Amino acid sequence: MEAAKSIEHAFATPVELEPGILRLTLPLPTGPKHVHCYLLRGADGWTLVDTGLGLMETPWPEILEQVDGPVVRIFVTHMHPDHVGGAEAAAEATGAPVIQGRLDYAQCEQVWGSDRWPEQIAAWFTRQGATPAIADELIESGHVFADFVRFAWNPTLVEPGDEVDGWRVLWVPGHADGHLALERDGVLVAGDSLLAPITPAIGLYPESRPDPLGDYFDTLEAIAALSPRVSYGGHGATIEAPADRARAIAAHHDERLDRTAAFLTQEPRTGFDVSYDLFGRELPPIQRRFAIAETLSHLERLVAVGRAERREDDRTVAYTAPFSGGRPPV
Ligand SMILES: [Zn+2]
Repeated sequence: MEAAKSIEHAFATPVELEPGILRLTLPLPTGPKHVHCYLLRGADGWTLVDTGLGLMETPWPEILEQVDGPVVRIFVTHMHPDHVGGAEAAAEATGAPVIQGRLDYAQCEQVWGSDRWPEQIAAWFTRQGATPAIADELIESGHVFADFVRFAWNPTLVEPGDEVDGWRVLWVPGHADGHLALERDGVLVAGDSLLAPITPAIGLYPESRPDPLGDYFDTLEAIAALSPRVSYGGHGATIEAPADRARAIAAHHDERLDRTAAFLTQEPRTGFDVSYDLFGRELPPIQRRFAIAETLSHLERLVAVGRAERREDDRTVAYTAPFSGGRPPV
């Protein structure tokens, strides 16, 4: 019936969540199938938070017509394609400057601004035990996907602790190293740092901070301590009890850490090997890549707390259970 239509309708229509805060949901071809952007009212106009994917032909003129007043700045929470990919188009449509975190923008340029990234990331995944089929798929899809990411070059750079139109800029690393959120009067605009019902992907990637899951535990603790009244995320539902949600996600990762540790022995195993235990054998290459990255973030967390050891040589990175005495393995 009208379901398909109403979703389509919902896609280009800003919805008021509370006075001065609108949610704009844009379609995605994959994954959660949608991304939430937000419009925050200020004295001089609206701040748009996140921009959807590039090349999705977001009908900005129609959207802007439904908003009373101009969009005067665009804030990007993190450099993943569904958040930063439409920044150039949004900036063109609104004439507004783009604001992005310093660390996040550096990684954004490194990943999406370089033709060589797909080859680099494929080589890195190969070191983690990925098969040639996965490496080839990474190179191919990397080049295709880069076309969908039209970030804005040379944005205004901000740091954690800065303010954007009265909103405090918080550093919430884990899902992305340079991930930023906005907080004001008990409202958290969280990007993908806090989601429900899905949990944000926490992956290890080349050139990323060494222990993203450790970072994320700190982020979850900080959100629980901040205890905002409400959190608006990049996907899924509005979170009415953010501190509880943060604690639940931390418990989820504690469990995953235990499961991951249980698959380690004295025999070195790669992130690829362990991803089979954690995520099963039947995954298409693109999902295997996320599974490996997620497995590695857990393995590196286990290394950081002494529950695993990393063994690397020129060709491979592998992990073992910590050596527990007796004769060292040869
Ligand atoms: Zn996202």
